[in-house]
Amino acid sequence: MTTSIIGFPRIGEQRELKFATEHYWKKRATKAELLAIAHQLRVQHWAKQKAAGIDLIPVGDFSLFDTTLDAAYLFNIVPARYKDLGLSSLDEYFALARGYQSEAKSVKALPMKKWFNTNYHYIVPEFDDDTDIKLIGSKLFDEIDEAKEQNVENAKAVIVGPYTLLKLSVFKGKKQPIDFVPAVVTAYGELLTKLNDQGVDWLQLDEPALSFDQSEDDIALFDKIYSKLLASKKNIKVLLQTYFGDVRDSYQTITKLPFDGIGLDFVATTENIKLVKQEGFPADKVLFAGVVNGKNIWRNHYVTTIETLKSLNVQGDIVLSSSCSLQHVPYDASLETQLPESVQRHLAFAYQKLDELAELDAIFQGKNQKVLGVNNDLFSTILHPENQQVKARIDQLTNADYTRLPERSERERIQKDVFHLPELPTTTIGSFPQTKDVRQNRSKLRKGEITRTQYDAFNQEKIKRIIKFQEKAGVDILVHGEYERNDMVEYFGEKLDGFVFTQNGWVQSYGTRGVKPPIIWGDVSRNEPITVATTVFADHLTDHLVKGMLTGPVTIFNWSFPREDITPEQSVTQIALAIRDEVLDLEAHDIKIIQIDEPALRENLPLRKSDWYSDYLDWAVPAFRLVHSGVQPQTQIHTHMCYSEFGDIIQAIDNLDADVISFEASRSDLSLIDQLVAADFQTEVGPGVYDIHSPRIPSVEELEGIIRRIIAKLPATKIWINPDCGLKTRSEKEAFEAVTNMVKATKKVRS
Ligand code: GLN
Ligand code: ZN
Repeated sequence: MTTSIIGFPRIGEQRELKFATEHYWKKRATKAELLAIAHQLRVQHWAKQKAAGIDLIPVGDFSLFDTTLDAAYLFNIVPARYKDLGLSSLDEYFALARGYQSEAKSVKALPMKKWFNTNYHYIVPEFDDDTDIKLIGSKLFDEIDEAKEQNVENAKAVIVGPYTLLKLSVFKGKKQPIDFVPAVVTAYGELLTKLNDQGVDWLQLDEPALSFDQSEDDIALFDKIYSKLLASKKNIKVLLQTYFGDVRDSYQTITKLPFDGIGLDFVATTENIKLVKQEGFPADKVLFAGVVNGKNIWRNHYVTTIETLKSLNVQGDIVLSSSCSLQHVPYDASLETQLPESVQRHLAFAYQKLDELAELDAIFQGKNQKVLGVNNDLFSTILHPENQQVKARIDQLTNADYTRLPERSERERIQKDVFHLPELPTTTIGSFPQTKDVRQNRSKLRKGEITRTQYDAFNQEKIKRIIKFQEKAGVDILVHGEYERNDMVEYFGEKLDGFVFTQNGWVQSYGTRGVKPPIIWGDVSRNEPITVATTVFADHLTDHLVKGMLTGPVTIFNWSFPREDITPEQSVTQIALAIRDEVLDLEAHDIKIIQIDEPALRENLPLRKSDWYSDYLDWAVPAFRLVHSGVQPQTQIHTHMCYSEFGDIIQAIDNLDADVISFEASRSDLSLIDQLVAADFQTEVGPGVYDIHSPRIPSVEELEGIIRRIIAKLPATKIWINPDCGLKTRSEKEAFEAVTNMVKATKKVRS
């Protein structure tokens, strides 16, 4: 036994699970039909791993929605309001994940959160003081039986570990994680016993929470749970699996505890390599070495990997593994036949990564040196298209390029003079409803059923309509509606040099939702205007100011598969220069207000606070500044972020040096306003006054109340009135009525 993976994708090569699940939800498929597809997928996944020669195959990594929710469900961590619905267990499970609504009853879904620093989202389990943790489910055991039937000899049972489960949950009552330790230990102990009785050799407990900064209390909690749990362990071997970061705070503790194996991520960080080298790795434990990248799509460079492994000087057994679950990469690079061969051969999706593990294993054991040569050739011929002009531009950047002049307070004065906007100016975040006809128009163009001219003409009609609507509603700063955009990153990626796109590269984002991230392949540059024609078209339709809408460099980067031959800072700077060209072009075409969206800025913060600036914000913030530093003082730069937990990075956000920022606020009950006051925030702000995620239409009175609450705390001269986010997902009725009410409420407050 020498190779394993932490987990496999589950949505299906053709997103079968998505379609089956959605059919079930719409009552177009039965439970049996859904479960049959799920079964089929597991069987295929195991067969694939077996065929590739993976020795220790994960079982339990499959999920109908989310594995954290699976663990919560298995252990009866289900709030009473869901149990009271009296649903079948499958429907109760889905109710937790996505809420439930019938004529008689309505319960909201549990919250969803980003899974560490990935674009996957997990369901946040909820504890209250009555939560009665006990092993009630059978999912994991059933899947083990199923694997046995499929002759998967070396099944490795996989589940979220007790520590991470407690750390990621919310606690609604008085009790804290520590109070649940005895119950959690008993329940996981039972799980161990059952799996042991099933003849399972290895149990993998996922504890990625160890990659966050760990306080002494955290370590004590971990130690307490595992000293007890492992004390009663039978034959079954327990693998402590970590990923996404390093375990510097817990290394002493975890190497002392009687785990049989420890899994470390050697890709996300070099820190774990240092730890093993400096502190040594216990000879009586198996090291699961996470050497094949589960988060990115490039081929593994075997020589480097083998060197790393050898340098570790580990005495005991080593199992070669992925750095994290392969669920974060698409299934199969060989399906990407539209990509040039020169790109395609550098890609490794989940299937290719299985082969890589088998090959690495052979090389490591001195068995197959031939593949080493092939792999080396691949790396010696890698040709990320370089762009000397881009390089030269970056070389010439100076501090001045990152500084917009004059300073913001002076610009604020100038802009107020030029624009003569009413107090509390109203605007929206950019998109208006992407109704069926809008999507159909795009799909017709893609299928070649209409010409580009016909496509544009349709969108122009849409723009005319939405400009009229905004004028009628009395909005101050108008937008063109973003009808031409399918996705705010893909749209720009497609028009910039340096990106390539997959046809089938889906990755699960949450539940049945997937994303198809662009791949950054070469140096990024802009060779022609992207949004200018559309923005100018809209601008000429009205006497109002029309805001240009762009996606910022950090968001474009964070939502793509990045290159690894250059640093994130270099990539982001290239993208920033490309978007800067677009900003200057819009300005040259008399667009006076330009919004540069950065909804993903916060989400890629490193897991450890100590790395926030040095590893990220120190280049992410300058990249944004570089985008807009070249505009005239009277050109107003807006930005938008879809979250309200600015918390500790509030200064960094102010430092973006935008003139205006809009963000989510209504759902967080405007609590952010206090933080803004405390931080003496200088950017003008548009705290979203209503939640666009809900179909509910806020009344004028309600909105008036919210606006009054905002201006009670912040100077009215610095406030903008807008919704939380883009209106893309709403119906036109909902969007129109809500925006109309928003303007009415603003006018009432003004008067
Ligand atoms: N301008 C974009 C829109 O309105 C912003 C989207 C976002 O914040 N994610 O859709
Ligand atoms: Zn948003």
